[in-house]
Amino acid sequence: MRIKFWGVRGSIPVPGKETVEFGGNTTCIQITTSDDNLIIFDAGTGIRVLGLDLLKGPFGKGHGAGHIFFTHSHWDHIQGFPFFAPAYIGKKDKKGNRVSSECNEFILYGAADVGNRLEATLRGQMDNYYFPVDLNYLSSKISFKSLVDNKIEIGSAKIQARQLVHPNGVLGYRIEENGKSIAIATDCEHPSDGSIDQNLLELACNVDVLVYDGQYTPQEYSPHKFDLEGPGKQGFGHSTPYEGVRAAKAAGAKRLVITHHDPLHNDQFLRDLEADVRKLFSATDFAREGMTIEL
Ligand SMILES: [Zn+2]
Ligand SMILES: [Zn+2]
Repeated sequence: MRIKFWGVRGSIPVPGKETVEFGGNTTCIQITTSDDNLIIFDAGTGIRVLGLDLLKGPFGKGHGAGHIFFTHSHWDHIQGFPFFAPAYIGKKDKKGNRVSSECNEFILYGAADVGNRLEATLRGQMDNYYFPVDLNYLSSKISFKSLVDNKIEIGSAKIQARQLVHPNGVLGYRIEENGKSIAIATDCEHPSDGSIDQNLLELACNVDVLVYDGQYTPQEYSPHKFDLEGPGKQGFGHSTPYEGVRAAKAAGAKRLVITHHDPLHNDQFLRDLEADVRKLFSATDFAREGMTIEL
């Protein structure tokens, strides 16, 4: 399987010359399985660029199909969806019904408590107070599924979901195919008692790649901090790269990829932080937009 990062920023997009190397788009990760299934995690603004790439293939002609898993429905994980061009491509008959054989098809997944509201949430952000095009206008076939039993098979890939710690909840995912595995744990806060979340350890057990939320430095996370950048970020639902190292080591992960970079962290800052974290766990990379990993 092949993993590609299209958006690695947390909270809000940060375009500009100081974020060119790591990128400014919010969360979107593409997995292409060896049997060529398209699995997308989150629809932050990175999904807009992924969509343009997909148009070069069958999705450009209305012959594509894909699965989009949502970790949760905070803005930085849904805001790219209205700009995901493949969702607009499909043929309708004179009555406005979709012609199945000529429509792109997407299945959107969310946790049971999020999934039941996922359609309303995505529809809400396309309400005409916020956006000119209604969700019903999209010509692709879109369906919604709640992750109730938390285990799904897509072709040769097995996907397992677990709740992690984040305000209003978040799902972490483990994807396995042909003996290779990846865990995606973005938007997760580490326990304050020094333990490691058991659900995270289960998802990341012996994975080839652990993708982990390292938004804050320990100083920014500190509950005692208050300065020009605001109060400490404990309780905001995010973690640090150093907690990522602890989790990776405890779970036996072979490689650690830190993502959900803070909007305040420019390229130089992230490069320096990455170098420091590598002293503790050399197989660490900070995710950069466009980065790909073949497993
Ligand atoms: Zn987020
Ligand atoms: Zn969030």
